[in-house]
Amino acid sequence: MTEPLPQTMKSLILQEPGRITLEDVPVPIPGHGEILIRVKAATTCGTDLKAFKRGHSQIPMPGGFGHEYSGVVVASGTGAKFKPGQSVMGVHSAPCGECYWCERGQENLCETIMSSKVLGSFAQYLLVPKRIVYKNVFEKPENIPFEIASLLEPYASVAQGILELKDVICDDASVLIIGPGAIGLLFVAALKEVGISNITVAGRNPDRLKVAEAFGAKTVLINEYQKEDRGFDIVIECTGQVEVWEKSIDYVRRGGTLMLFGGCAPGTKVTYDTKRVHYDQISILSPFHFGTQAVRQARIWILNSQTDLSLLISGERKLEEGATVFQDLDAGKGIKFVFRP
Ligand SMILES: [Zn+2]
Ligand SMILES: [Zn+2]
Repeated sequence: MTEPLPQTMKSLILQEPGRITLEDVPVPIPGHGEILIRVKAATTCGTDLKAFKRGHSQIPMPGGFGHEYSGVVVASGTGAKFKPGQSVMGVHSAPCGECYWCERGQENLCETIMSSKVLGSFAQYLLVPKRIVYKNVFEKPENIPFEIASLLEPYASVAQGILELKDVICDDASVLIIGPGAIGLLFVAALKEVGISNITVAGRNPDRLKVAEAFGAKTVLINEYQKEDRGFDIVIECTGQVEVWEKSIDYVRRGGTLMLFGGCAPGTKVTYDTKRVHYDQISILSPFHFGTQAVRQARIWILNSQTDLSLLISGERKLEEGATVFQDLDAGKGIKFVFRP
């Protein structure tokens, strides 16, 4: 350790749905292979909003809140890959590499990827466990702002989606994205990176649709949308709403692909017309989370981005404003906010 660290730090704690408090908690001490990061930027995420509104099976409460981050290493355990003073960007999970799923190339479904993840980036310091440090934390180049580096996690989940589409993506593919939240907009950015230009984004929020246009997509208000004769080659649902999951299949062409990307509330069910699925031969994909390949891909996209990712950051907030930030996001204000704790 190089600098003396305080005993306690400020940390946002999600106590239960709808209730966030700011607490003084002990600053963790990194063990073997672990690093302690002074958080420089931590961005809000749709998953955080879901947890705040309705609870979330992957986010225990009460508990540390926030999972997107970048920062500077201030202490590292023995044998850790990074040294104090290094700026880093990373995600909050990593696959084990040894389980049934990891061995079959489905790292995103790793048995322990969720149970070993780290939460609590809306805090002054974040302890990153060894497995994550080794697989999914990288040095942050100086020219990448911390808040852009913090987008690695949502961009990695989008990169996983793009990897799952690899067999159907081609340069002239037409793609409809439903839902212009941060994930829908990152899909526009990612599709641009892989050379797709025929992208339409449908949604309700005009401010968010403007960002989609700035990223180079056509946009349409969802209630004014007229279904085209043939439909889209690929439709990507990014709202996590059951009605939209059901409706989105109507926009796919015969033989096309529907990607249901937004996770819905626990216990919900959807119904599809079997004729559409079978006789129109719609492929349905619904990828969850991401493996290491997607993280590396997202990192490359961030370092050489063709789109201005700063348009996704709607402003800076203080930890003290934790609850109001999520009330604003729930009211459709902003796309992502950044804490600089
Ligand atoms: Zn996220
Ligand atoms: Zn595994």
